Amino acid sequence: MANGLRRRHSVGCASRKGRRCDCRAGWEAFVFSARDGRKIRRTFPTMAAAKAWRADAVGGLVEGRCELLARRPFARPPRPSWRE
Ligand SMILES: [Zn+2]
Repeated sequence: MANGLRRRHSVGCASRKGRRCDCRAGWEAFVFSARDGRKIRRTFPTMAAAKAWRADAVGGLVEGRCELLARRPFARPPRPSWRE
């Protein structure tokens, strides 16, 4: 599995008994900020979203804007648009 990503299974998930996952596990992405001396974690409904955030977060660490990123509310999954 990709480094920095982790699946969050529910307590009753079949994967905990060695079977196929039957919960809607979210994905947790985390990056370690050496400057802050702590991990920054976020949970997302999909692996793609978690990966995207992590890539962004890693880029942010490199550029030194990580605090902003940690505070910024992440965009929610798109909803069907009823206005257009
Ligand atoms: Zn599961």
